[in-house]
Amino acid sequence: MGQGVLTAGFSRVDNALHCEGVSVERIAGEAGTPLFVYSAATIRDRFTRLDAALEGVPHRLHYTLKANANRAILELVRSMGGGVDVVSGGELYRAQQAGFRGEDIIFGGVGKTAAELRQAVEADVLFINAESEAEVRLLDSIAGELGMRARLSLRVNPEITIESAHEYIKTGEKGHKFGIPYDDVVHVGKVALQCRNLTLVGLDMHLGSQLSRIDPYRAGTQRLVQLHSELVALGARDIRWLDIGGGLGVRYDSEEPPDLGRFGEEVLPLVEGTGLTLVMEPGRFIVGNAGMLVARVLYRKRSGGKDYVIADAGMTELLRPSHYGAYHRIEAVIRSGDTARVDVVGPICESGDFLALDREMDQVGPGDLLAIYDVGAYGAVMSSNYNARPRAAEVMVDGDRWALVTERESLSDLVRHEIATPSWRS
Ligand SMILES: *Cc1c(COP(=O)(O)O)cnc(C)c1O
Repeated sequence: MGQGVLTAGFSRVDNALHCEGVSVERIAGEAGTPLFVYSAATIRDRFTRLDAALEGVPHRLHYTLKANANRAILELVRSMGGGVDVVSGGELYRAQQAGFRGEDIIFGGVGKTAAELRQAVEADVLFINAESEAEVRLLDSIAGELGMRARLSLRVNPEITIESAHEYIKTGEKGHKFGIPYDDVVHVGKVALQCRNLTLVGLDMHLGSQLSRIDPYRAGTQRLVQLHSELVALGARDIRWLDIGGGLGVRYDSEEPPDLGRFGEEVLPLVEGTGLTLVMEPGRFIVGNAGMLVARVLYRKRSGGKDYVIADAGMTELLRPSHYGAYHRIEAVIRSGDTARVDVVGPICESGDFLALDREMDQVGPGDLLAIYDVGAYGAVMSSNYNARPRAAEVMVDGDRWALVTERESLSDLVRHEIATPSWRS
C-alpha cells in the first residue's frame, strides 16, 4: 500500500466507542444530538501523510474549505503550515477570519461574480483560477480599476475519463462545466499574457472527487506540463504553480484508498525539472475519516415488511446518502452484540430522507446512540434548515480533551433574518 496504517480517530474501548481519548457517549450526553465530532489527530495524520508523499518536489497543500469550513479545522490546518482553496466570497471571508493571509489562499470557482473577483484581488490572494476567456478579461478590468496586478492561473479541463463513485463528483471530463476546454487553453493563455493588469502564474486542474486511482493524476499532470511548455514558448515567464487539484479518496466501506507511495513515484517525476511548485487542494482526504455524526434513536417502526430505525438526524445533517447514494458505516455507540436488518431514516418529511437502506447493523432501540462514520467531508457544510431544523453542534477532540467548536443553532436563529412585515415601496 505504501502508506502504512492510517490513524483511526475512533475506536472501541471494551464495547464503548471513543473519539481519541474521550467517550462518545459522554460527549453526546453533554453536547446533545445530532452532533458532529471531529478528531484532530486524524486531520493531522492525513495532512502529514500527504505532505510527506510530496516531499520529493517543492510543494504546497491548500486545504479545500468546501469539504468542511469549520473554523477549528481551518486553524488546525493553518498551524500545520497549510494554505486553503476557496470557491466563493463567503469562503474567502471564512479563511481570512481563521487567520489565513492572502498568500495562503487560492481562489477558484466556476461562476465567480465581479464582486467576488474584486474581493479576491483586494485580498491579494496567491492566485485566482480562471475558468474562461471572459473571466480573464473581467478580472483584468477589475484589477485595473483597483490599480492592482492580479495573479492568474488557468483552470484547465484535462478531459480525462475517470472512474468515480458518482456522476455528480466528476469534474474533469470533456463537456463538463468546469475549466477551460483543453484545446482552448493556449488561446486563453495568449489573451492573459496580453492583459496589462494580470500576471499568469499557474496552471490548474481538478479531476473530480473520491478518486482511488493514480493514473488520472499522472495523465492530467502530463497534460498540464505540456501546456506549460507551450505557454513558455509563447513568452509566459512567470508560471510558477502547477496545481493538480484535490480528489484523493477515502475509505467509507471497502474502497481502496489511493496509494500515496505510487502517487509519489508516478506524478512527482513529471514535475521534477520543470522548476514549478506542485500544489494540491485536498479536501475529503484530509477530513473525510476525521468526522462522526452522533444521533439518537427516537423510534422503531415496522411497515410493509420493513424495519425502520427513526433517528434524530437525517438529510438535513447528512445529505450524502440521499444526494449521492453514498454509503456511511453506522454502528451503535454502545454495542449489544445483536444485529438486525433495517432502514435508518431521519425525521424529515421526505421519502428520500435516509442514512442507510436495507442495512444489517447493530440492534438498537429508542434512546440508543448511533455513530455514523466518515462524515468529516461534505457533511456539516451541506446541512440545511429544511423543516425548520436548527443546525447541529460540532465538537473537536484532541487527545483526552474536547471542546464545542460550533454551537447548536437555537430556534430564534431560524427566524433571525426574517422581516415580518414587508415595507412596500410604490
Ligand atoms: C471540491 C474541490 C476540491 C477538493 O476535492 P476533494 O475531493 O474534497 O479533495 C479541490 N479543488 C477544487 C477546485 C474543488 O472544486
